[in-house]
Amino acid sequence: MYMRYFSRLYSAMAGPRPVVMSGPSGAGKSTLLKRLMKEYDSVFGFSVSHTTRNPRPGEVNGKDYHYVTREVMQQGIDNGEFIENAVFSGNMYGTSKAAVQDVQAKNLICILDIDMQGVRNIKKTDLNPIYITIQPPSMDILEKRLRDRKTESEESLQRRLHAAMVDMEISKEPGLFDIVIVNDNLEAAYDELKQALLEEITKVREISASS
Ligand code: ADP
Ligand code: 5GP
Repeated sequence: MYMRYFSRLYSAMAGPRPVVMSGPSGAGKSTLLKRLMKEYDSVFGFSVSHTTRNPRPGEVNGKDYHYVTREVMQQGIDNGEFIENAVFSGNMYGTSKAAVQDVQAKNLICILDIDMQGVRNIKKTDLNPIYITIQPPSMDILEKRLRDRKTESEESLQRRLHAAMVDMEISKEPGLFDIVIVNDNLEAAYDELKQALLEEITKVREISASS
């Protein structure tokens, strides 16, 4: 009984666990995350990554990403400012220490939207997140979603599809992810995501109610 009390107390003090969301480009990570952050805006905070890719229409600098040049990004990496970084589809991406600290300082659940290389590198840190992968129902559906999104050149699309095949294969590795969500029907996928995060959501609400 005391053990349970202390373990609850300790986990409340340690703050909520971050969440890593991974999965192929076009699987629906941003769609699901935006919805989650809108419904639970005082529970989740997004870790704003740095990238050298160009902003898409509607994306906001400092909100979706910090858009930087290769020189600036490399300088930040060399200065030890990043927890992890990777090259995806020809562009650099990375999670800065500040991006995660900003969210954790507010006692929010920090969400990291990162690729498979990022997952592997975060596993080497003491961040201890919940690992979730969002998977498409099939390659064909993924390709259709990516084409319909109209954000990629043909070259970028082909690179992303190739990375998706690798991602879908690696994601089957036992123990790599805590939760696998197949985003076929959006409502069902969103419900599954909420269900998976219920315990952490409750923890954040308990912390904010007691402070
Ligand atoms: P990611 O962030 O993983 O790259 P997006 O969230 O941008 O993926 O989703 C890719 C495209 O697929 C978007 O145009 C989005 O509106 C659409 N989409 C996402 N989920 C579904 C779904 N369940 N059914 C149909 N289209 C979807
Ligand atoms: P997009 O260009 O579609 O926004 O993102 C492309 C890929 O980069 C996605 O798989 C996304 O999860 C990943 N990504 C975004 N930010 C980061 C990051 O900071 N680190 C890593 N490793 N991957 C990232």
